[in-house]
Amino acid sequence: MSTLPPVVLVFAGHDPTGGAGIIADTQAINSLGGYAATIVTALTNQDSHEVKGFAATDSESLIKQADTLVEELLIAAIKLGMLGSSDNARAIMQWRASHLASVPLIVDPVLASDQGQSLSDDGLIKVYRDNIIPQTTLLTPNVPELYQLSGIKNEAEAARALLQSGCSYILVSGSHRDSEHVDNMLYGGDGLLETITVERLPGHYHGSGCTLASACAAAWVHGLEPVHAVAEAIDYTWQSLQHAYALAQGSHLPNRLYWTHEDEE
Ligand code: PLP
Repeated sequence: MSTLPPVVLVFAGHDPTGGAGIIADTQAINSLGGYAATIVTALTNQDSHEVKGFAATDSESLIKQADTLVEELLIAAIKLGMLGSSDNARAIMQWRASHLASVPLIVDPVLASDQGQSLSDDGLIKVYRDNIIPQTTLLTPNVPELYQLSGIKNEAEAARALLQSGCSYILVSGSHRDSEHVDNMLYGGDGLLETITVERLPGHYHGSGCTLASACAAAWVHGLEPVHAVAEAIDYTWQSLQHAYALAQGSHLPNRLYWTHEDEE
């Protein structure tokens, strides 16, 4: 029998292209030595160009599934992606408080697709601010998400405000910055802890945020120091994008299993 991997409980949406969502989360977590247990919060209708629509799972079924899983799995961390509705977001946080309040909570604050289509409802930002961020161990927004969540259009001030509201660490991904390289900033305590810079790859990629947050969750449950955990996750995400597939005409789809055929290269 193999050694048991730490289990990450993922709440996220399903993207049938496999670029983002629960498929991305599972591949990233399992690649980095964790095991993903998955609860689908929404079904999306999308291709490599755009999200055409989505239907949220009802909160009661989510919670029933979470109750079933927690009965037999030892959960090491929770990862949140697309939540589908503010009702789902509230229900998940309430369930976490009564079942797994002390396990690390890694949050990719999904508000919209990378092409700008909304993946939330009007009340979700308030639930992030009031219920989710104050409980979050590591939040992984890009710059637009950081500004939307904080209501502040200055990165360091926005990060400080969210840290003061109770979040322990914030990894602001550099993908949406207008800079030559991708500068990923890790904030914690009173401010900036580390900047991790990687080469900016040409092209558009679908699911980079999901991959990064899930890779962080897997690295986190192995007990790495926060700076080392996010550095490993950034490297894994970058490699997945560098090996991405141009399977369709739109955004490229990350190859998160690139490491399984590294010897052939
Ligand atoms: N989750 C699902 C199901 C999605 O369809 C998308 C984007 O379309 C996202 C999350 C957001 O992806 P990311 O955070 O990787 O940009």
